[in-house]
Order: sequence, then C-alpha cells, then structure tokens
Amino acid sequence: MLLTRLLNACHRFPGFVYEGARLDETTKTIEVQVRPRRGSKPCCSGCGQCAPGYDQLPERRFEFIPMWGFAVLLLYRMRRVRCGACGVKVEQVPWAMGKHTLTRAYMLYLAHWARKLSWQETARSFHTSWEKVCQAVEYVVQWGLEHRQQGPIRAIGVDEIQYGRGHTYLTLVYQIESGCVRLLWVGKDRTIESFEKFFTMIGKELAEKIEFVCSDMWKPYLKLIAKHCTHALNILDRFHVVAKMNLALDDVRAAEARRMVQDGYEPVLKKSRWCLLKRPENLTDNQRVKLRDVLRYNLASVRAYLLKEAFQDVWNYDSPTWAGKFLDQWTSQVMRSRIEPMKKFARTIRAHRELLLNYFRARKAFSSGVIEGLNNKAKVTMRKAYGFRTFGMIEIALYHALGKLPEPKLAHDFY
Ligand SMILES: [Zn+2]
Repeated sequence: MLLTRLLNACHRFPGFVYEGARLDETTKTIEVQVRPRRGSKPCCSGCGQCAPGYDQLPERRFEFIPMWGFAVLLLYRMRRVRCGACGVKVEQVPWAMGKHTLTRAYMLYLAHWARKLSWQETARSFHTSWEKVCQAVEYVVQWGLEHRQQGPIRAIGVDEIQYGRGHTYLTLVYQIESGCVRLLWVGKDRTIESFEKFFTMIGKELAEKIEFVCSDMWKPYLKLIAKHCTHALNILDRFHVVAKMNLALDDVRAAEARRMVQDGYEPVLKKSRWCLLKRPENLTDNQRVKLRDVLRYNLASVRAYLLKEAFQDVWNYDSPTWAGKFLDQWTSQVMRSRIEPMKKFARTIRAHRELLLNYFRARKAFSSGVIEGLNNKAKVTMRKAYGFRTFGMIEIALYHALGKLPEPKLAHDFY
C-alpha cells in the first residue's frame, strides 16, 4: 500500500515494520499498524541496551504528521524488557520519547511551523491543540539547550523587557558579535540574584574572555558585569540611552498637556506624542504637519524636544574625546533648562559618562542596532505569545524564536 511505502521511504527504523494502514472516514484518521521485525530485540529505555523481552503492553497511539487533512496515527504495542541493569522497563522506540504521544517527526514539524506562525495558528492549521504545539516547542528547545555550544563569547548585550501586568521584567542576554547573534539566556526579574544565574551558567572561564558588554544603566547589571567580565569593556548601549531620554521627554509632554487642559488652554499638545518622540526622518506626513504646528509654541515640551534632537548629534562623533566634550556642553545646557525630567536624564548621563564614552571607544567592534533589533523581535514573540502566562512558557518561546538552537536531526526533512 502507498502509505506504508511512503513511510518506509521517509520514516524507516530498523527493527520495526509498518504493517498496513486503515482509513477511518468518520474520524478522518489514518491508522498505521507498527510491529517489531521478526527476531529483533527490544532495547531498554533506561540505558539503551538490548535486553530479553518480558511482556507486551496494550496498544499505544502515536501522532504522526497529518496528511491531506487526515490525522495519521502509528499504533504499536510497546514491549517491556527485563534489563540486567534497570530491571523491568518499557522498551525504547526510535520514533517517540518517554510519555509523549507525539512522534518526534511531528514535534519537529510543529515546532518548525510554530516559529513562523503563532502557536495558536499552528495548532489550528494542523487540527491539533495549543498544548501539543507547546509540548513540541518545549521538546525542541530543551534538546537545543542541551546540545548547543555556549562559547566562545566575545560580545554580549544585556537587555530587559517588561512582561505581564505591572512592573515585571525579564532579563535577556544576547550574544551580539558579527557572525553570531542569538539569545543566550532568559532570566526572571532584573535583580542581582537573577542575573547572577547567567554567569553561573556560562562559568568563569567564558565570562572572563568576554571583550564587550553592552548594557543599560541598571545598577545590578553594571555591578555584576564589573564583577564577572573582568576583561570586558562595558558599553552603554545607544538604544537604551535614547530610550531613557525619550521617557524624560514624554514625562515633560504628558505633564504639560495635562496642565494645559486644566488651565483651559487650547490643547496643542494633543496627539503630539509620536511627533516629538520619533526622529524627524521617520515622521509620517500628518505627523510632520503636526510637529511644525507644535514647534511654534513656547512650551517646555518644545524646548525638551529641541534638546533631544540636539543630543542625537553625539552619535556622529568618532573620537571619544570630542564626544565627551559634546556631552559636557549638552548636559550643562540641559541643567540650565529648568525642565526637571530632562535635568534628571542629564545627571544620569554625567554619572555614567565613561561608560557612555566606551561606546565610542568600541564602536568599530560591532553594530549598535543589534540589541534594538533583538529587542523588537523579542517583543513580537511575546505579543504573538497569546496565552503564555507563565514565565516558563515565555522562556521557551523566546529561546525558540531567538536562540538559534541546534535541532535534532531526522533522516528525512518533513518541511
Ligand atoms: Zn536498562
């Protein structure tokens, strides 16, 4: 029969034979009988050694890759073995592991699609459940984490990302050198204790060989980086610096907009948020018109906006010395501005002046947009992750999307 021939061509295992297939039209299921090849010996699932048979268990059903809208099930009665080392154990079968009802081929297949679609869409596309897609991804990620090579690591970026409601954060560590950009680690919270686990994972030897660490100004991060990456240049990441300044600008705008409404002024700042936050070259036509309008007023938001735009020039410097002079001038100007949130940002910049200048000392080493790109991808993954409420699920989804993990190999590629 065609189906058993197909299976023999792409999913064949020595020691087992496909015995024929049956289509059940009411349940839209194809059932394929599998049996041990005559004379083949079962192997122990505990240690992998072949052992004498003990008895046979009731039939189990393993889900294989569906075909033309039909579910495909492999039916097999597992044998138990009497293993010299492990005692009476169920046999090991090459198409599945442990208690999983999904075959490995099907898990790899689902996990592959779950990287392109959301888990929900994957489940719907293959008439399976969200939980099974989740199992599949979990299997692939676990395998990948066990088999990946961690080092050598030259440059890392530390980032945090908000998840769930309120102020819950994840700490993400990326490898960011050219030729190897990937998520290395996900940690719950952004505390010393959580970040410390990353260094435990990679070990002292790898940590000491890291040359560059890009991070934001979060104190626990800075502390641990200095402690563990003893030979690295710690660089304040451009993306995080700009994000912090934008927060300050947004505070100014929001407070001023509220005040204007209270005092009965014309609401000129209404819908101005993105006009002020975006770089001028990224504005839409409408936003450009709106910005031109807002800039005519003598507002703290406008002055803060002009300071923000002036700050962006710093990135054009090549020399750390000149960049430093620019920063000193800019921060003095801000300190005279009487705009409190911007002054607070300027003080932060002064406190971290050397770390920020490390950006210029290292800038030829790697491109600075890398962390921002990864951060965006991580956010998309979390947004697509409808239904991921637990940290464990989010962790798996992020590793799956960004970890560039190795995957178990099958003899045939099903996708
Ligand atoms: Zn054994």
